[in-house]
Amino acid sequence: MPTRIRIELFSDTMTKPTAEMRRFMCDAEVGDEQKGEDPVVNLLQEMTAELLGKEAAVFLPSGTMCNQIAIKLHCRPGDEVLMDRTAHPLNAEAGGPAVLAGAIVSGLPGERGVFTAEQVRAAVRPITRYQPKTRLVSVEQTANMGGGTVWPLQTIQEVCGVARQHQLFTHMDGARLFNAVIASGVPAKDYAAGFDSVWIDLSKGLGAPVGAVLAGSKDFIFEAWQWKQRLGGAMRQAGIIAAGGVYALRHHVDRLAEDHANAKVLAAGLAEIPGINLNPKDVESNIVIFDIAKTGLTPPLLLEKLLAHGLRMSPVFPTRVRAVTHLDVSRSQVEEAVKIVRQVLQG
Ligand SMILES: *Cc1c(COP(=O)(O)O)cnc(C)c1O
Repeated sequence: MPTRIRIELFSDTMTKPTAEMRRFMCDAEVGDEQKGEDPVVNLLQEMTAELLGKEAAVFLPSGTMCNQIAIKLHCRPGDEVLMDRTAHPLNAEAGGPAVLAGAIVSGLPGERGVFTAEQVRAAVRPITRYQPKTRLVSVEQTANMGGGTVWPLQTIQEVCGVARQHQLFTHMDGARLFNAVIASGVPAKDYAAGFDSVWIDLSKGLGAPVGAVLAGSKDFIFEAWQWKQRLGGAMRQAGIIAAGGVYALRHHVDRLAEDHANAKVLAAGLAEIPGINLNPKDVESNIVIFDIAKTGLTPPLLLEKLLAHGLRMSPVFPTRVRAVTHLDVSRSQVEEAVKIVRQVLQG
C-alpha cells in the first residue's frame, strides 16, 4: 500500500479547491462559453485582461494550451523561438512548438532561468536565405526550473526593448506571474506591458482546479479563439470551472506571501543539512531547488525515502530536487519537512 502523503511539496499544481471555492463554483451562473454567454467565463476573461493591461483575454483549459496557441500565432513554420533553456515549452510540452507551430526553439543559457537583453541580441539571427527567422522571445515569470526566480522588471524591459528593435514578438509564460507580483510588489500590468501575449495559470499557486487565461490584443485573442475551437479546447458551461479562477483572483493572490515565507523557512532549514547544496538567498518565491550530489543519493532514491515518511518532492535531474510551497502546505509542515529530510540523510 502506498504511504499516505502528509506533506505535499511535489508542486503547487497539487492544491485542491477550498470549501469556499467549491461553494462559489457550485453557485456559478453558467451559459455556453462558445457563444459568449457564460457570464463567469466572460467575467474571468475581463478580470484577467484588466489585471494584465491587455485588450482581451481567453479562458483555456491549461497553461500549456496558452503557450502553444501563442507560439502558433506568433510563428510561421521554420521560425525560431528564443527562451531560457529551462523553459516549460522546451522541456515539458511534448515538443509542441515543433508539432503545432513548426517552430524550432533555442534555449538560452540564462542564470537560474533569467537571460539578459545582451543574450537575446547575440542570439537574434541575421536575415539570410540559410537561417531560420528568429521570430519570438518568451520569458517565464517566475522561472520555474530556475528555482522560482523573479525576473526583475528592468531585465524584462531591456529584453522587450531588444526584441522590439529586431521586430520580434514577445510572449510571457506567466504561470506564476502573481508569485512574482507578490514577491516584488510590481503590479502584473507593469510586468506584462512589453509583451504581445501573456497568460496566467489558475491551477498552480492560485489554487483553482482547472484553467489558464491568455491575454493580448483584440485581434490576437480573436485568432486564439479560433485555435481554441480548432484544438477542441472550446468548452460549454465552463463557468463552473472558471468560477474557481474568479474566486482565486479575488482571494488567493495576497496569500501567496505565506507560501513565499514558508519556502524561505524550508530553504533555511535544508541549507543547514550536510550534503545539501542550496543558497537560501536564491529562494525568491514558492520554489526551492536544492542539489543533493554530495549526499551520494540520486533524486529518485532520496524521494523514495522521503515518501516513506509521507513527504513528497519532485526530481530535477540529474542531481537536484524541487520542493514547492502552496496553499495546502502550512508552516508547521515545512518545519516537519526539514526534520524528515535531516532524519533521512543523517540516519
Ligand atoms: C505548469 C506550467 C506550464 C503549463 O501549465 P499547465 O496548466 O500545467 O498546462 C507552463 N509554464 C510553466 C512555467 C509552468 O510552471
